Amino acid sequence: MGRHSVFAARSPFLYDMEHTIAAISTAYGEAGIGVVRLSGENALEIAKKLTKRTELKDRYMHHCFIEGGDEALVCYMKAPHSYTGEDVVEIQCHGSSVSMAQILARLYDLGAVPAEPGEFTKRAFLNGRLDLSQAEAVIDIIKAKTDRSMLSAAAQLKGGLHDKVSSAREKLKDLLVDLTVNMDYPDEDIEEITYNKIEDSLSAINDELLELLASANEGRVLRDGLSIAIIGKPNVGKSSLMNIFMGEERSIVTNIPGTTRDTVEENAQIRGIPVHLIDTAGIRQSDDTVEKIGIERSRKAFSEADLVLLILDSSRPLSDEDRELLSASEGSDTIIILNKSDLDAAFSASDLDTKLKVIETSAVNNSGLDEIKDEIERRVTGGSVEKRETPLLSNLRHIRLIKEAQREITEALDMTRRKEAIDFIEINANAAFSYLGEITGETAGGEIIDEIFARFCLGK
Ligand code: GDP
Repeated sequence: MGRHSVFAARSPFLYDMEHTIAAISTAYGEAGIGVVRLSGENALEIAKKLTKRTELKDRYMHHCFIEGGDEALVCYMKAPHSYTGEDVVEIQCHGSSVSMAQILARLYDLGAVPAEPGEFTKRAFLNGRLDLSQAEAVIDIIKAKTDRSMLSAAAQLKGGLHDKVSSAREKLKDLLVDLTVNMDYPDEDIEEITYNKIEDSLSAINDELLELLASANEGRVLRDGLSIAIIGKPNVGKSSLMNIFMGEERSIVTNIPGTTRDTVEENAQIRGIPVHLIDTAGIRQSDDTVEKIGIERSRKAFSEADLVLLILDSSRPLSDEDRELLSASEGSDTIIILNKSDLDAAFSASDLDTKLKVIETSAVNNSGLDEIKDEIERRVTGGSVEKRETPLLSNLRHIRLIKEAQREITEALDMTRRKEAIDFIEINANAAFSYLGEITGETAGGEIIDEIFARFCLGK
């Protein structure tokens, strides 16, 4: 991880780092080990008292017994070579909530104060250990749903996004200096900046931003997941297909209960893409008022889900309900599935008169499912399924800021081509510079920073 110590100096708001903070950093519950963490000026003194040792060597594991009975391994990491950039002590005890609570209470007695959620990472940011985008990647790693999501978050934590944004920002800064000199000292003997030169600089920056944006959709989906609604009238095979997806790629993430009574929702992954499957008529009821609202629910799914799988039973002629769903699907992000292809067909794709992608499947002999997965992957990665670079943009905040910056650069480019006054071009270039700085944290206000760290869990 790179050090970007400018942030500490430029911190736009006051934050009290004098206190030594403490928190339990591992999850609550029974486990083999648990970690209690301490960070701040007095961390070493407090830890010495806790362990009753006169010395704790930097980066050594010290075995000791804690008041209360448990034994622990204690590691002191001297500033600035620690997660927060301050003196840090990590106490590894047994993963007992009693033991961890006892240690924490003792640390408070010795002068530490409770850490707020995300406070360790916030200090890492304020001390220049991480930029804001890297700090945000820490939450994304903790919350990563699949291997692929993890790779994307890890690339961001390594500084992938920081480096790209800084590079664009550096180029903008050079341009802004040139523009300002030209505005302030137009008569001096300074190489007059030509419109061609401005255009070249702006185009280069624009290309870099567009390249980042190209993988934004993929990054967002890897981070937040893709919601897929499975719709279709009863008995077409929705549950069977959903079960196959779940059975083949069961998610390692705990399933969350359906948000409404009318749906069955499950988390799964398709080729490393976290998906949230919603079976809109998963809960069956016999009275037909429910079937009527089935159509209502389906319409809702078309507008709310990222992708809809409309399932039809190709062994039976199309019914009015099928036609209604088909017409509702036009123009939406839908894949039409002709299920039960193992049986004699009552109609085929060509009878449907639709521009949407149609895939034939059979839940009985497992055919067509790879084709559905290919299609989903293709849509997420924007057309190609071959190995691509790991996306660096995934967070909606970052995507919005890059889009804003790119819009400002486009406007500046248009003005440059029309040879408008340098002052005007400078305003847009400056705005883009500021938007990019919000990603790394250099121009982000205290409120934004507080809000970001408030999303962290305790002990991180
Ligand atoms: P849902 O009401 O849309 O969720 O439909 P189900 O998944 O419960 O399936 C309804 C019936 O169709 C069940 O008896 C399934 O075994 C059967 N079925 C589902 N998919 C297929 C398929 O691809 N081929 C055949 N022959 N039967 C299927």
